[in-house]
Amino acid sequence: MFRATTPDSPASYYRDSIAVELDPCPPLSGENRADVCVIGGGITGCSAALHLAERGYSVVLLEAHELGFGASGRSGGQILPGLGTDISTVEQALGRERAREVWEMSREAVRLTAERIEQHAIPCDLAWGYLHAAVKPRHVRELQQLQERLARDYGYEALTWLGGDALRERVATDAYPGALYEREGGHLHPLNYTLGLARAAQRAGVTIYERSPARTIRRGQPATVETERGRITADFVVVGANAYMGRLLPELEGRIMRAANYIIATESLGEARAAQVLPRNDALSDANFVLDYYRLSADKRLIYGGEVSYDGREPRGLQQRMDAKIARLFPVLEGVRIDYRWGGDVAITLNRAPDFGRLGANVYYAQGYSGHGMALAGLSGRLMAEAIAGQSERFDVFAAMPHRHFPGGERLRTPLLVLATHFYKLRDRL
Ligand SMILES: Cc1cc2nc3c(=O)[nH]c(=O)nc-3n(C[C@H](O)[C@H](O)[C@H](O)COP(=O)(O)OP(=O)(O)OC[C@H]3O[C@@H](n4cnc5c(N)ncnc54)[C@H](O)[C@@H]3O)c2cc1C
Repeated sequence: MFRATTPDSPASYYRDSIAVELDPCPPLSGENRADVCVIGGGITGCSAALHLAERGYSVVLLEAHELGFGASGRSGGQILPGLGTDISTVEQALGRERAREVWEMSREAVRLTAERIEQHAIPCDLAWGYLHAAVKPRHVRELQQLQERLARDYGYEALTWLGGDALRERVATDAYPGALYEREGGHLHPLNYTLGLARAAQRAGVTIYERSPARTIRRGQPATVETERGRITADFVVVGANAYMGRLLPELEGRIMRAANYIIATESLGEARAAQVLPRNDALSDANFVLDYYRLSADKRLIYGGEVSYDGREPRGLQQRMDAKIARLFPVLEGVRIDYRWGGDVAITLNRAPDFGRLGANVYYAQGYSGHGMALAGLSGRLMAEAIAGQSERFDVFAAMPHRHFPGGERLRTPLLVLATHFYKLRDRL
């Protein structure tokens, strides 16, 4: 039986197209012992659990709601090398050599995604091809400079500049003066991918408990993780709770900001209309700071994302703005039916580089992918498993990235970020 939508799982196109069957994941109860307790059933947690089980650890995974409840099951599904920030942020903080290592690991993250899908036959519609579209002349210069810099300093040759007819062959609109085509990027059904990792983890021996929010982590060696009705004693704890974490790890408060992002899915467009939108089935994001992104689903719906909110409420007029944008880009879609609309929370760091770290000797965490975690979260799982097994060099490269707290404390943080976003929205219009 495939899973049905429940109060624990937000309605979305993804929930209505689940293709992965899992063994039952009841709530945790009673006393349990494991080598590692993983908290969070998104890509970070499922990937970590799978890598750890493959290394021979006994692993228990706790998910507060249902697997894929968080960003992993709601995302745009676009997978890309790189980070949520420009690689120059890493260069400035850690130097060129370390930045090269980070860049190569971000490419490994994309390869790892594809390998997992193949190895575990995950039915998540992986497709290759990505467009970074310029919206204005300033973006053309910036994207071309990025292409040159990545080729020169990082040996990255997977980007091609497209304009005119070459671009229209990939996205059927005149809205963009040009775009960088990235052959190492692509897209997939994020919830099926997440559930596919969870299924692989179960088969590797991981015990998964849903509807089991971790209430406290009592530090120590071993550590103890408590839920309402159960307790797990474990030598290591891995936290992949990201924007949905709340106050589980008080030390991390202020290192990420939670922001909601919204997506709509149209009715199925059919082959002919879909070919008048994205003829080669690429994914696309525009170069604005507050960016829009879209792709086709396997059944030819347009999945279109964008818009942010910081107070947990959907912005007013969201649907009308999305409709207008879609019709402006693709007049052929004027009046198209919207079947689904949903939102999810992104964890943003101040510098938009991901935040990986260790608290004490045995609590590992990875968070703050800043809207760029589909591939990186899989890699963070691998790196945390390596580190727990005693090879922490690669994890430590990421963990060395300095992260500042958002200014203003809990009450001022949101208004400050709203102000900053208004500034960037204004800048996007120039
Ligand atoms: C709308 C949207 C669109 C996005 N689009 C893209 C995109 O196109 N490309 C891209 O690269 N990235 C995208 N992202 C970001 C990407 O989805 C995330 O970076 C990534 O999924 C993070 O995975 P995660 O496992 O770390 O966190 P999540 O998937 O958020 O999982 C965290 C899980 O932890 C659980 N949890 C929290 N607290 C507890 C607790 N105390 N006990 C037990 N469980 C707990 C939550 O219920 C949740 O299921 C998008 C995000 C959103 C919201």
